[in-house]
Amino acid sequence: MFDAGGLSLDAVAAFVDPSHREYRERVVAFCREEIGEGHDPDSDGAARVRARELVGLMGRAGLFRPVAEGDVRGCVVAREVLGWWSPLADAVFALQGLSSTPGLICGEDPGGWVARAMAGEAMGAFAMTEREAGSDVAAMATVAVQAGATSDARVPDAAAPGDAGRFRIDGGKTLISNAGVADFYVVFASTDPGAGTRGISCFVVPADADGLEFAGAQVMSAPHPLGEIRFDGCRVSAEAMLGEAGTGFKTGMAALDRLRPTVAAAACGMAGRALGEAVGHARERRQFGRALGSFQLIQEKIAASATELTAGRLLAYRAGWEKDRGAERITTEAAMAKAFCTEAAQRIVDRALQVLGGRGMLASNPVEHLYRSVRALRIYEGTTEIQHLIIGGGLVRDG
Ligand SMILES: Cc1cc2nc3c(=O)[nH]c(=O)nc-3n(C[C@H](O)[C@H](O)[C@H](O)COP(=O)(O)OP(=O)(O)OC[C@H]3O[C@@H](n4cnc5c(N)ncnc54)[C@H](O)[C@@H]3O)c2cc1C
Repeated sequence: MFDAGGLSLDAVAAFVDPSHREYRERVVAFCREEIGEGHDPDSDGAARVRARELVGLMGRAGLFRPVAEGDVRGCVVAREVLGWWSPLADAVFALQGLSSTPGLICGEDPGGWVARAMAGEAMGAFAMTEREAGSDVAAMATVAVQAGATSDARVPDAAAPGDAGRFRIDGGKTLISNAGVADFYVVFASTDPGAGTRGISCFVVPADADGLEFAGAQVMSAPHPLGEIRFDGCRVSAEAMLGEAGTGFKTGMAALDRLRPTVAAAACGMAGRALGEAVGHARERRQFGRALGSFQLIQEKIAASATELTAGRLLAYRAGWEKDRGAERITTEAAMAKAFCTEAAQRIVDRALQVLGGRGMLASNPVEHLYRSVRALRIYEGTTEIQHLIIGGGLVRDG
């Protein structure tokens, strides 16, 4: 059944190696065995339990290997397959990647969390967004003050006895995937509030750190663990900082460069599943004495979706290939892949549902589930508008 929506690796053969084909076999086998034909859980609580279970299963199956090795095309392969089978499993893979990549980029693993995450023994989260700082990351209000670094009376006591060199984090984060279920958070906080993005630093904070609190779940329309966290005098050691002070934004953006082609791939996986369901239905369903698929208006929908899916996959694999062959940054390629694929996937899933008619709206139908799941991809890791600003702004600036 898998591949029915045109997700063959032959269509992107120019961009993959034999190792990617072997790895994909492993991911497909994992999905057949551990996910099967069933739906993702419907409730937030059940999704949280299942997400934690999936981290362990994926780690033991060696699925996080391409994350650990910085093999972007491997991650693209994984998310395309996982997106097809289970948006929740895809999100689990994505978050292990997002929370481990900053440490991997810096070559640091404070607390050993990355190693544990790659083995499936710990679940990570990436905490950047705040209530007043979404697309405008530089507006973040969460601060990290090093003990002894300030005598400013307005700054909360940073220099409690015995705290030499430690940081005190205060603030809060919202819309954080895995909030409440993660074992560790990669947290972005300002260590120099006047310096904009150049004042942002990145910390690895264990979920049980004093002063870090899970402030509650934010329940999505499609199950995906999400929530808010709060920092109230949360103290972390100086070693918890990844890289140098003030380099957190750069590290975060470099991580997003690597992850955005994989969001594109997840969108292609979901779109491919929906297209396959639509084609199958168009062949079988008869109206007006003929198969639906014999009507040209239905063929037009299928043709538009198949073409957009093929174009999108080429963008996603090409972005990964550019990174894997040594490009330091793939900001434009990644933005193009993410914006195009997530927007196209929304259209493809919507067209598929239209072809299915009323059946497509039933909660038991996989396309109904995809219709809710695919929406978030146009928003998280930078909205489509922000991707367009990156592409257009780069062209205007650099030609
Ligand atoms: C399912 C899900 C999971 C998420 N997981 C995480 C996570 O794990 N970690 C994390 O840190 N965050 C996460 N987020 C948050 C996500 O990254 C933000 O929602 C996103 O960056 C947009 O920020 P915002 O919601 O505050 O929207 P805003 O920034 O307020 O934007 C609102 C709208 O205005 C548009 N807009 C903003 N600025 C401009 C501009 N200059 N020009 C034109 N249009 C503009 C946006 O594109 C958007 O359409 C998640 C979000 C979702 C939905």
